[in-house]
Amino acid sequence: MNMYDHFALKNYHTFALAVSAKHFYIFKDDIQLDELLAEIKKYPKIYLLGGGSNTLFLNDFDGLIIHIATKGIESKKIENNQMIVTAKAGENWHHFVQYCIRNGWYGLENLSLIYGTVGASPVQNIGAYGVEVKDRIRRVFAVDIQTGKKVTFVNKECNFSYRNSIFRQPENKNLLITAVEFQLDTQFQPQLAYGDIQNKAEELAQGTPITAQIVANAVIQTRQAKLPDPQQLGNAGSFFRNPIVANEVAQALKAKYADMPIFPVDDQTSKISAAKLIDLAGLKGFTYGGAAVYDKQPLVLVNQNNATPQDIVHLCQYIQKVVQEKFGVLLQPEPVFV
Ligand SMILES: Cc1cc2nc3c(=O)[nH]c(=O)nc-3n(C[C@H](O)[C@H](O)[C@H](O)COP(=O)(O)OP(=O)(O)OC[C@H]3O[C@@H](n4cnc5c(N)ncnc54)[C@H](O)[C@@H]3O)c2cc1C
Repeated sequence: MNMYDHFALKNYHTFALAVSAKHFYIFKDDIQLDELLAEIKKYPKIYLLGGGSNTLFLNDFDGLIIHIATKGIESKKIENNQMIVTAKAGENWHHFVQYCIRNGWYGLENLSLIYGTVGASPVQNIGAYGVEVKDRIRRVFAVDIQTGKKVTFVNKECNFSYRNSIFRQPENKNLLITAVEFQLDTQFQPQLAYGDIQNKAEELAQGTPITAQIVANAVIQTRQAKLPDPQQLGNAGSFFRNPIVANEVAQALKAKYADMPIFPVDDQTSKISAAKLIDLAGLKGFTYGGAAVYDKQPLVLVNQNNATPQDIVHLCQYIQKVVQEKFGVLLQPEPVFV
């Protein structure tokens, strides 16, 4: 069994905090998973861990962490220029996106350089630059770690919404996603409507046709310019979700702050920019202990100087308080607090 006790977690989550797990199990194939499941009743407290890029450990973890490290990608062509691609949960997300582009399977390029694993991608329905992974997921394969029962969810059953799905709900905490099936295009259709991606892609293309790799490179360069590299500065990407508020609230904010970005969601609600609210609250670069609001992108909290989990939690709560007092909007954290 690949079971370790009193295991340091610093290299297994992108905040790089000095925390540990009482028990840590790495599995790389189905046999190793079955071995663990045969003994699972010994462990009353469990957390499923992929790349740890959306996880905030609040303390040493007094239970078992199951680290999913399975690899493998399969593909089959179906009619209408579509490709069905199934990846094991432990595949690195960004490597998977690059693999698809190299093979001529398109649709995920706007999601380049998102950290973490394929298995976690449906959990919060990862999204960036106008694309959400739900648009490409066909089925999610999972196993209930308490009963050993295998379950398959078709896209509709995952109940995907903005940074959410059934897999984030507490009643599904026993569902370990083993693989994800995607439906991709074999003919490239660039999706450039969001932000500055079109300009960046055109700049990189230098008059040649825009390819999927060019779009991916535009996304990668844009992200690298504003997001900290977790290898250099611990972080979990966006720390807060963009709040969804009533249209009247969004319009009132827009009337007061003309450059407030607003994205209509439906007839009644709009999404507003959490980064802008934090910026307008004057909190860019604000520090608490070893934690800080990243100065190039205020939506990101960083482990600047040996932060403790409590530093990050205090900073989070302070931002929530100031933003709520100033704008009447409560920011909700995006990472999973463990
Ligand atoms: C610099 C940076 C930029 C980022 N940018 C974006 C972005 O643009 N868009 C975006 O959406 N996210 C972004 N993120 C957040 C993060 O990359 C995603 O949420 C990613 O999907 C997390 O993957 P992970 O494997 O690291 O998940 P983890 O942190 O390991 O886990 C996250 C959640 O998923 C669960 N989980 C993980 N694997 C499984 C599994 N196999 N089965 C069941 N549950 C599982 C965990 O229990 C936990 O609840 C960013 C993070 C960083 C560090």
